[in-house]
Amino acid sequence: MIPKTMQAVVYRGPRDLRVETVPVPQIQAGELLVKVAVCGVCPTDIKKIHYGTVPPPRVFGHETAGTIVRMGRGVEGFEVGDRVALHHHVPCCSCHFCRHHAFAQCEQYKRTGITAGFEPAGGGYAEYVRVMPFVLPGVVKIPRGNSFEEGAMLEPVNTVLKGVERLNLLPGDVVMVAGQGPIGLMFTRLLALRGVHVLATDLFDSRLSLSQSMGARWVLKPEPDGGNLPSAVQRMTDGRGLDAAVIAVPLDTVVNQAQKLIRGGGQVLLFSHTKRGDASLTDLAAVCVDEKDLIGSYSADFLLQKKVARLVFSRKLDVRALITHRFFLDQTAEAVDLANRPSADSLKVVVTQQAAETSI
Ligand SMILES: [Zn+2]
Ligand SMILES: [Zn+2]
Repeated sequence: MIPKTMQAVVYRGPRDLRVETVPVPQIQAGELLVKVAVCGVCPTDIKKIHYGTVPPPRVFGHETAGTIVRMGRGVEGFEVGDRVALHHHVPCCSCHFCRHHAFAQCEQYKRTGITAGFEPAGGGYAEYVRVMPFVLPGVVKIPRGNSFEEGAMLEPVNTVLKGVERLNLLPGDVVMVAGQGPIGLMFTRLLALRGVHVLATDLFDSRLSLSQSMGARWVLKPEPDGGNLPSAVQRMTDGRGLDAAVIAVPLDTVVNQAQKLIRGGGQVLLFSHTKRGDASLTDLAAVCVDEKDLIGSYSADFLLQKKVARLVFSRKLDVRALITHRFFLDQTAEAVDLANRPSADSLKVVVTQQAAETSI
């Protein structure tokens, strides 16, 4: 029996998340109702919650996995009871932007197709979500033997693989991944799987040992001014410089140093600079004369969905090691706080609605 009302964590204003009783969403033809099992806490949601960049009320949470409990007329390929991972936006695949593979700029992609009520915003911090027809291509079945938590990681892994695909790399290249939080660790693993030698940097020793188990060839704790990096990079690359640097920390000083550490024709990939409005000074001659590309990557690539599912569900990228903290739905505000203030022992934080689902 599906109840008429449910618990949802409603965003009511900056830093104001409230557990409220709201109606279970109604679905129409072509839609799904999914009972949420797990939802990851994502930095982009934290930004919206803390800075109030979008108007309330909304129910956030977009790294969602759960079980289909009701289907609208005309839905094919799924059954009630299927365990699924969701993607909250899906590109149209036919507009000008999509033809240029710039899915994150597509108008349809900018619409969120999953909601627990109010303005659609993902809805994963609620008991049930409504999945609209235009995001059905983003619904992925979770194989028996894999957990909901693994399913909830498909979206963040996709964003990382998209970033990796933006780099022009050859096996044996040397890439620095600055920052070994959950995102940086996924970069380390995916690059290592491609035969790239990864130099992983972070201020927490506990993370660096995980970087090694994810395949980093070298790990380094940067001195406060990054003073120990140039000589290390010189040694690792026979004086040539890094082929690329991935910046998975939102620090401008790290970008500037990375630009110096890469070789001519190399790339600096920005992944964490999502806060607008900060002007930053950079030596543009490094881009023009030294052909050092400064590039960015944001959000997921629809075309990578199958590849990502294979990587995660086969455990070639074993995301289970990345999930360190689990909170129940009524503790979502605490989950967001912890994810916002990472500590030595915290990586990915998830909101779970299951008694204990660490593995199946
Ligand atoms: Zn996310
Ligand atoms: Zn499009």
